[in-house]
Amino acid sequence: MSKSIVILGAGFTGLPLAHKLLKYTAPKPGIKLKVVLVTPSSKFYWNLAATRGVIPGAIPDDQLFLDIKSALPQYPSSHFELFLGRATDVDASANTVRVALNNGSQQTVVYDHLVIATGSHISSNLPYKLLGSYEETLEALHSLQDRIDEAKSIVVAGAGPTGVEAAGEIAAAYGTTKEVTLINSSEHVLHASNVLPSVAQSVERDLRKLGVNVISNTKVISTRNADPTENHGMSPRKTDLVLSNGKAIAADCYLPLFGVAVNTQFLPEQWLDKDGNLKQGKTMRVEGTTNVWGIGDVGNLEPKQVVNTDAQIIYLAETLDRILTGKHNTIKEYKPLNKTMIFISMGPRHATGQIGNWKLWSWMVNYVKGRRIFVDEAPDYPIDLLRDSSRIRGETWLFQSEGIYAEDENRELDIVLDFLRTYGNPESACDTLSLCEQYYHDGGKRTGFGRDFNFSRRRGILSYLAEQGDEVVLAFFLASGEHDTNFTDGTLRTPLLWAVKNGHEAAVTLLLEKGAELESGDSSGRTPLLWAVENGHEAVVRLLLEKGAELESGDSSGRTPLSWAARNKREAVVRLLREKGVEKSKIVTLTREQLHSA
Ligand SMILES: Cc1cc2nc3c(=O)[nH]c(=O)nc-3n(C[C@H](O)[C@H](O)[C@H](O)COP(=O)(O)OP(=O)(O)OC[C@H]3O[C@@H](n4cnc5c(N)ncnc54)[C@H](O)[C@@H]3O)c2cc1C
Repeated sequence: MSKSIVILGAGFTGLPLAHKLLKYTAPKPGIKLKVVLVTPSSKFYWNLAATRGVIPGAIPDDQLFLDIKSALPQYPSSHFELFLGRATDVDASANTVRVALNNGSQQTVVYDHLVIATGSHISSNLPYKLLGSYEETLEALHSLQDRIDEAKSIVVAGAGPTGVEAAGEIAAAYGTTKEVTLINSSEHVLHASNVLPSVAQSVERDLRKLGVNVISNTKVISTRNADPTENHGMSPRKTDLVLSNGKAIAADCYLPLFGVAVNTQFLPEQWLDKDGNLKQGKTMRVEGTTNVWGIGDVGNLEPKQVVNTDAQIIYLAETLDRILTGKHNTIKEYKPLNKTMIFISMGPRHATGQIGNWKLWSWMVNYVKGRRIFVDEAPDYPIDLLRDSSRIRGETWLFQSEGIYAEDENRELDIVLDFLRTYGNPESACDTLSLCEQYYHDGGKRTGFGRDFNFSRRRGILSYLAEQGDEVVLAFFLASGEHDTNFTDGTLRTPLLWAVKNGHEAAVTLLLEKGAELESGDSSGRTPLLWAVENGHEAVVRLLLEKGAELESGDSSGRTPLSWAARNKREAVVRLLREKGVEKSKIVTLTREQLHSA
């Protein structure tokens, strides 16, 4: 019998979930599935970049808003239906949802399973998230852009991630031409995000550098001339603010960014907790129901962040698949990540981040988020998750690099496995996973980059990892596809040369598998084989020869592998080379003694 899964909301969770069910579950033999997606907005809003998007000209509209229909491949209408409208009521006893369609008509949609993915909005209705339809949101965004552009003084209230980024982005874009003030109700910024003191201090330092005036331990207690219900929460030209510290300030543009409200007003009260969040059970099913599920910001399982939603989508798609294929008894519990993860960018040059108890290096967060706020990732967003991997490659990259670059407050050795558990597909026997498991089974070695380590970008990360022989972390970096396997440093050494030079056999194998050039020589013409021979790494020499390394190639002085082996008294290597057929006569520039030992 045909089953229908109705998904309310096509944001960061609803859209990829629909895609996954349509791609994997719907075509399974014996399954008749229809996925119905309900959303008031015809476009998906890449709101992660909204704090920069509110600055006129900073991000084009078509990079902030992506067409939902074209993001989904052409699934047959028997499998997929999209309703542009807003769910207004759910009748749980009849398994129906009422939808107010954007064209003014009403629609009743019947479901076998209902997934609520309606997300949240900024309490003041500022367009940092969707406000109803795409057209309404765009209009509000343009209007806010104009207000920000015209204003001489801007006051942001709320020093959570959105408030901090909003103030930082505006200050970074306009410099001293605008007076930007951030009102913070606590002693330090990001108080409610549970960040390390060092992370909060780093953000505060950046804000100061950008010229933002942070007023701490203070709340806005009243506003005059502001009417948050009109004009999408934007105040009129001038707003007078009365602060809890007894002072009053005026703002040309006031941005209240201190509250997030979940979009659950239309749901039965018994499904909601006191803050309006859906009460999710351990399988993400709404408590007291058998066929209603919550995902993303609407739920009460995890903090309201995209960094948590990848795992939720993968889990819920799999759970629904198991139910539809009659494997109810194999459903597992969802395991929340329970880890602080935050990436704050304030303009293209200032950023700070934290994963677990690790404060990330600012330049690194800046590299992955600050420069473009992931807008390049947006078009592939719904599709990427089909591979059960993290969509936001930058964040994945940070995960991968944290073991090396994070400033160590409390080193957590399980970080890489955690990453794989959350973002990888535990059932796939991919090389990286088995390598990683082996790594931990063996006790886990750490790459030896301490606080005093100086990273030169000219050398590139792969070269350091290859030198250290940390094949696990190296594997992650190579898998990210963001690094050139044959990147050369100032002396033309490739990562392969570094791994070979230090005799790291596993790293050499990995690099060769990933396309490292076997004969790429450094500035003195020494190839990987010459380095391996010179340093007497017999196993690596053997490996390179098996891969077809050129036996007779010499360096810029004409020294061949056999010459180097003899010169450095690498007897085992000399024997190996001769076994492979190198003739003694090919040895050049040798002393009599060296020749004798060969
Ligand atoms: C400015 C800003 C920056 C952020 N940056 C980050 C970041 O860097 N990293 C991070 O991890 N998180 C970040 N977040 C949080 C992130 O945006 C949310 O966690 C994410 O959007 C949640 O996804 P979702 O699918 O639950 O909801 P949403 O993405 O909000 O999607 C909700 C969907 O439901 C639809 N909808 C709403 N009401 C109804 C209804 N009644 N009927 C039908 N459909 C409805 C909406 O139109 C939308 O399609 C940021 C949030 C903001 C505001």
